[in-house]
Amino acid sequence: MSDITYRLPQEIRLNGAVPGPRSEELAARRTANVPGGVASTLPVYAADADGGVIVDVDGNSFADLGSGIAVTSVGASAPKVVAAVQEAATHFTHTCFMVTPYEGYVAVAEKLNELTPGDFDKRSVLFNSGAEAVENAVKIARAATGRNAVVVFDHAYHGRTNLTMALTAKAAPYKQGFGPFAPEVYRAPMSYPYRDGELGGKEAANRVIEMIEKQIGADYVAAILIEPIQGEGGFIVPAEGFLPELVTWAREKGIVFIADEVQAGFCRTGSWFASDHEGIEPDLMTTAKGIAGGMPLSAVTGRAELFDKVQPGGLGGTYGGNPVACAAALATIETMEEWDLSARARHIEETAREKLGSLVEELDVVGEIRGRGAMFAVEFVSDSDSKTPHPTAAKQIAAACAERGVLILTCGTYGNVVRLLPPLTISDDLLNQALDIFIEEIRAVAA
Ligand SMILES: *Cc1c(COP(=O)(O)O)cnc(C)c1O
Repeated sequence: MSDITYRLPQEIRLNGAVPGPRSEELAARRTANVPGGVASTLPVYAADADGGVIVDVDGNSFADLGSGIAVTSVGASAPKVVAAVQEAATHFTHTCFMVTPYEGYVAVAEKLNELTPGDFDKRSVLFNSGAEAVENAVKIARAATGRNAVVVFDHAYHGRTNLTMALTAKAAPYKQGFGPFAPEVYRAPMSYPYRDGELGGKEAANRVIEMIEKQIGADYVAAILIEPIQGEGGFIVPAEGFLPELVTWAREKGIVFIADEVQAGFCRTGSWFASDHEGIEPDLMTTAKGIAGGMPLSAVTGRAELFDKVQPGGLGGTYGGNPVACAAALATIETMEEWDLSARARHIEETAREKLGSLVEELDVVGEIRGRGAMFAVEFVSDSDSKTPHPTAAKQIAAACAERGVLILTCGTYGNVVRLLPPLTISDDLLNQALDIFIEEIRAVAA
């Protein structure tokens, strides 16, 4: 912690109206030129960002509890990442790895093979976005097994491309109007302790296994695809034992177990990967978001023998594993090691639990606090008995926080969850200040 350095003052500072005049100007230009289908959380336009703050074009400085959706875990301008990007761009911005390969790609693959769980021979292939990684993981699993079906879960989020829309659970806004969707996708019940009567992990896994056996047939299933902690679906942490039970069963049945760690990976949950918490070793893992300090990069990592079934030329893409993004990834991983950002994530969880923990008993609207590391959330309900989702509470709280200079995101199938995803480099002072504002706004809505 002590060696984390900042370029910008780590403070909340508002210069008047939010959005300010320059942001208003940009908003008008945007409306005339950018479709409304791309929505933004805050109507302010970024000018600078570092550590735990985002500064807008009017000079307002916001505490960032979103990290651009779990991307800038090392901060949005971490010194080593900036230097690595500058240095790499000086030499070449692109050659296409499929045309003229380069060392950075290989070095990122080596690092991924080393850091991901499982002491077996691995390979990694690089892409640009999380959705692209997920699509390719499914391609690899199908090629390796010669089977069709993919099992996904309630509340799952895997992206916005055609196949990943099919894999994603929530219709509006992600899928509405965008069909037809890819076939051979089957949805299984998730372990969601707060909403499934605290069903144990093993029992919840058996419910999935029974569904697969009865409705699909295990030998028809190529892959089980799951986020070890669900992101967009509401930061749902499955009951202990759920994931290991599914992994064991999948292995027995020759089904490829794919962990989608796009949001939970790279120190976010207090270890390199969320899979580490329960000691599971996925056959394939998808990563993106936090991997390269904000540069677009994603990966599929997993068992060499699965990749061996894919023909040369079957995987790739023009930009996949871009050299500048690879340099950023190597510097990001180095920064995570040097600053021990997994420990920072655990510290952020402790702080959040300490500050928010008592609210569950005290306020009827606070249904549950949950999460791991700096992937932490509060689920809001109209009352704690019925557990009826309360999306307006989440929305109002997030909006009120933004007005006071704290950028905070909502999520959840019911839109009733406020999630905390700060950069892992956020200072204690700023984190405490932001959480205090969050708590004040929770109390205001509860009153
Ligand atoms: C964000 C996300 C994706 C999609 O990543 P993109 O880079 O937006 O395509 C896939 N899976 C999970 C778990 C995610 O959180």
